[in-house]
Amino acid sequence: MRYKSTRSSREAISASQAILEGLAPDGGLFVPEEIPSLPCSLEQLAAMDYREIAFEIMKLYLTDFTEEELRACIAAAYDGKFDAAEIVPLAKVEDVYFLELFHGPTIAFKDMALSILPHLMTTAMKKRGEGRETVILTATSGDTGKAALEGFAGVPGTRILVFYPKDGVSAIQRQQMITQRGDNTWVIGVEGNFDDCQSGVKAVFADEELAKRMEKAGLAFSSANSINIGRLVPQIVYYVYAYARLLREGEIEKGEPVNIAVPTGNFGNILAAWYARGMGLPVGRLLCASNENRVLCDFFATGAYDRRRPFILTDSPSMDILISSNLERLIYELTGCDPEQTASLMGMLSQEGWYQIDDGMRKRMEAFRGGFASQEESRREICRIFSECGYVMDTHTAVASAVYERYRRETGDSTKTLIASTASPYKFAPSILRAIKPDWEEQRGEMTELEWAFACVEELSRISGTEIPEAVRGLLGAPVRHERICSVSQMKRTVEEILGL
Ligand SMILES: *Cc1c(COP(=O)(O)O)cnc(C)c1O
Repeated sequence: MRYKSTRSSREAISASQAILEGLAPDGGLFVPEEIPSLPCSLEQLAAMDYREIAFEIMKLYLTDFTEEELRACIAAAYDGKFDAAEIVPLAKVEDVYFLELFHGPTIAFKDMALSILPHLMTTAMKKRGEGRETVILTATSGDTGKAALEGFAGVPGTRILVFYPKDGVSAIQRQQMITQRGDNTWVIGVEGNFDDCQSGVKAVFADEELAKRMEKAGLAFSSANSINIGRLVPQIVYYVYAYARLLREGEIEKGEPVNIAVPTGNFGNILAAWYARGMGLPVGRLLCASNENRVLCDFFATGAYDRRRPFILTDSPSMDILISSNLERLIYELTGCDPEQTASLMGMLSQEGWYQIDDGMRKRMEAFRGGFASQEESRREICRIFSECGYVMDTHTAVASAVYERYRRETGDSTKTLIASTASPYKFAPSILRAIKPDWEEQRGEMTELEWAFACVEELSRISGTEIPEAVRGLLGAPVRHERICSVSQMKRTVEEILGL
């Protein structure tokens, strides 16, 4: 299997090269030359555990990894750091299935890919015969930074530096990052917003003089960004696993289509479901759920992608996004794999802020339905499911659940449905309590943001009768290990200092 860029027809490269390069030199994303078919029958898959299915699926995409290498990466990623033996448990609530992707070390779905990416990268480095150490530079608005830190902490041959906006993340998210363990981890608060962090990191990546000094010192920069194909491929696995699981438990018949609803931001998670469908997994509709930043919802309704609108802050912050980077991979497929047309649409997006696709392309995306839920609707959904079924979901998952409920009401489509559940409710405890127990807020008094977050965690555990995940419990009283703060203009200097350049 080779990978080509969505924006040019230059020669295709191997999986390990694509993982190391991250982004193509022409600014395009790497896509597999073709979507492979499922490797064996659905019944055979139904007899496998998570790691075996991961191996069967990933070996079709990462063909320049040996079987031993791939098995070693999978074994190192999906182990006891997940607090569920099945890795991704399925919870049946009323008649829908919540695919819980949040049982990893940072209790959000980013762990599914970021726990394996470091191993894929270090294996790829060895293959290339590179003795250089990999330095991961990441700017984060909250979830990705922590998941990347957990993934790379202690991985030999790597160092990771994470920049976060000093006042732009939640108290729990900050606490998660500044207490990070691992001698190869650095966490730096930036006096600026997320965009400042992102631009600063991009400038460091683009600095050729620095790259030369890095090479001399035996170091090379890389990125753990969600457009890396090494993050997308591991995400296909859990959709196949979920289907196999439903089959094994007799919830569905062999070949019965299942709909999938996904709370969407950068379009990575739902794209993986679409690849799984392309591989022959019986998937009916793909419901792309947005919060009030409903760019994608409008796109699926009209064929026009238009980011020229205000950015809205919601309590599903990981979906507060106006440019969904991974959509480019779908656009490429919709053009019939035409890199010129894809490049021209993406050029229009960056220059004019919008583009419109033609009718032929729209026809090819018939499997998708877009929908959105307002803040109020998602709060009501959290409250409804909790009071009717006793199941607590997080604010992102609630967007997908609300969008699905409306879709079912409006279409009468009663196909069995999986909802991708992307974070533990404990990660967003204050927002969850606001939804299910509005007068609880009166208890806050003089508490700091962090104290209040922990009070909400305790209360959530009490009223839901669920255990506080270790990832949150361990934060209380954990020593702070990262106190470094810098201004935007000091970011490069900070990187040089840390790396001893
Ligand atoms: C990142 C994230 C999303 C959005 O996923 P995409 O792959 O970017 O569409 C949704 N929910 C949570 C909790 C996330 O962390």
